Amino acid sequence: MWFQPIALLMVVAQSSLVVAGIHAGFPKLLVWVPAVAGVATAVLALHRAAVRTAGVLRTFWRRVTVAMGFVLLAAISQTVDVGTTDYADMPPIGSRTLLLYVVGTVLAISALLRLPAGGRNWRQLTTAVLDVAVVAVTAAIAASEYVGWFMNRFGVSTSAWWLNIAMMAIAVAGVMVVVKIMAARQSPVPRAALWWLAPIGIAGPLSTVLMAALKPWPHLNGSAAVLPWVGLFGVFAAHAQLRAGSRLPQMRRPSVHRRSTAIPLVATGLTSVLVTVIYLDTGHLTPVQVAGTALLLLLVVARQAMALAENTTLLDTVEHHAMHDELTGLKSRRYFTAAAAGATGPHTVALLDIRDFRSVNDGLGPETGDALLVAFGERISQLAGAEAVVARLGGDEFALLLPGSVDIAGRLLATGAEPLVAAGHEVLVDLAVGVSDGEEDLFRRAEMALREAAANPGPRAVRYDRSLECRLTRRATLAADLRRALTAGEFHLLYQPVVELPHGRIVAVESLVRWRTADGTVVSPADFIPVAEDTGLIVELGAWIIDTVCAQAAAWQLRHGPDALHSVAVNVSARQLLDPALPEIVAAALARHGVPASRLTVEITETAVFGGGRALATVHALSRLGVSIALDDFGTGHSSLGLLRTCPVDAIKVDKSFVDGLGGTPQQEAIAIAVNGIAETMGLHTVAEGVETAEQARRLHELGYRHAQGFYFARPLPAAEIDTLLDDAHPLAA
Ligand code: C2E
Ligand code: MG
Ligand code: MG
Repeated sequence: MWFQPIALLMVVAQSSLVVAGIHAGFPKLLVWVPAVAGVATAVLALHRAAVRTAGVLRTFWRRVTVAMGFVLLAAISQTVDVGTTDYADMPPIGSRTLLLYVVGTVLAISALLRLPAGGRNWRQLTTAVLDVAVVAVTAAIAASEYVGWFMNRFGVSTSAWWLNIAMMAIAVAGVMVVVKIMAARQSPVPRAALWWLAPIGIAGPLSTVLMAALKPWPHLNGSAAVLPWVGLFGVFAAHAQLRAGSRLPQMRRPSVHRRSTAIPLVATGLTSVLVTVIYLDTGHLTPVQVAGTALLLLLVVARQAMALAENTTLLDTVEHHAMHDELTGLKSRRYFTAAAAGATGPHTVALLDIRDFRSVNDGLGPETGDALLVAFGERISQLAGAEAVVARLGGDEFALLLPGSVDIAGRLLATGAEPLVAAGHEVLVDLAVGVSDGEEDLFRRAEMALREAAANPGPRAVRYDRSLECRLTRRATLAADLRRALTAGEFHLLYQPVVELPHGRIVAVESLVRWRTADGTVVSPADFIPVAEDTGLIVELGAWIIDTVCAQAAAWQLRHGPDALHSVAVNVSARQLLDPALPEIVAAALARHGVPASRLTVEITETAVFGGGRALATVHALSRLGVSIALDDFGTGHSSLGLLRTCPVDAIKVDKSFVDGLGGTPQQEAIAIAVNGIAETMGLHTVAEGVETAEQARRLHELGYRHAQGFYFARPLPAAEIDTLLDDAHPLAA
């Protein structure tokens, strides 16, 4: 780029001329050569910046080029002034010249003001223009007193005097505009370019000072000395833009436009002080000062009125944002809850949750996730009809408020089963839907129903009724009681013998937890284990059970020898398997009590590991510890024979329901027979659960079962009774 060396050369040439000119005379027009050439270079460089950019940037640089063009014309005009006038001390500066400078500066300021600084509307633009005017008038009042006095001393013509003051005021305003834009950090123009443009604003005042300083050497000229610098800075600004390329820099997106209120405050404050000082000093105010002050007040009032109107609009916008969801354009949670609370007469509230939304978002990317939410919003809006209020409550939760009692749950569920097109992907969604209808408390009730629907996997809709609320309340109190019970030590373990067939000798035990509440009632684990799972308390309770079982196993080993019991089993629920710390907890308990891992059996259900994932990983880790894994209640859950390969199973516990069928029809016996066959081929142990009669025990033995458990042999017993059993080697019911 040749602009920079040339502009730089002009600055060096001019500086040399000024220094040399103090010592020797030369033609007074010589200093105008670098001045005009420097500014002309800037015009060309800025033009290049305009050509090389696009959109708002091109418009901006085109405007700046025109502004710089006026400065060039002014410089030429000033050369003519100097060349055609005879003068002895102050070089002349005509009204035409000053007017051209003023036009150039005003154009530059307007170019800056019209930069799109983050969604400007006309009101904000007017406020900004008024700010500039306020600053300019304030500067003019000051200049009329102090700069005016300064220029009067050099005998400048009245019109030139006026324009000079105007230029001064505008220059101050120009610098202010650049500083404001930079502070807002919202300009599409690179900051470096703005940095170079800003100092050009002070060229006018600076040249006036230089003009006075160079008065003893009339062939030198303050304006001419400053102009090559104007050119150089203009070239640098253009260069900064060209280096940044034509792309728009990242702009900070303003949520609410901040307007500085300091400007009118400072301006009026400053002018009050100024006018008072001038009046006290001189005993009077010039018409200019009085008119200027009046004008300033008018401008400030207009500016504040503008800001006020803008604030009202902003408040409306904020209100709109609060009531609407930005992404989908649906109503917001706030709007919805207010509408649901304010609805009179029977209404229906439906709450929907896209259950697998997380996996869409993670798997296909957030853009697809967003598109899915929008598409889903549109679909339910269509379904709900014009009279409904449709809202996105946040995340993947939506809500409908419909007049009357409408049975919409089924239709809503069906919307998930039809593919939604989101960012080019066809997506099916699983929905959880909670519905309530009636006249009161609809939102809270629908929330309850939704929570219940979401508690189980798969698409599900739940409609609120009284019993649901009772169930949930009972659960909530039970959850609180459980927590207390754990600290109060209200849990204990019973052990149910597992016997060898046919003689019924005890070979193992299964631990079963019991909760005896303070009033003596015993709560079944079937009732409280699910609640403990829901609340996560099972993790803590489970750790206590595992530790207690290991301690007991160690005690039996010590008393009856290491081979008295082949194993002690502990039940582990699905939620516990999701805890990655479980293998460590088990390993620590075994180590603490000195129990070999092979003596512990962990009972898990098929359903817990059916989904694979973390639960299955935990089972593998447990198996690696050396503990045995038994599949409990086999045949009742997601019975998948594939599970026997993916999951490291050592034993199968055939569910009581199949044992109940023994001795009946061949169909009733089929499963008990088949399971034993499969287990045998795969080298797995089998235990038949829930054996209640001698007949069942006999038949099981006939079918090849080696181990059984059930009330026929023994109920779950306290540890001490197991000791007794182990002491007298009598078989249990043979
Ligand atoms: P499960 O692991 O299948 O335990 C066997 C259940 O069948 C026990 O019920 C036991 O008392 C009962 N049972 C045993 N023999 C017979 C019989 O001949 N007839 C009948 N009708 N029932 C029999 P319990 O103790 O009420 O336990 C219920 C379930 O609660 C257990 O089923 C297990 O899934 C869970 N559970 C029990 N203790 C624990 C524990 O410590 N931790 C975890 N996570 N779950 C446990
Ligand atoms: Mg069990
Ligand atoms: Mg079982």
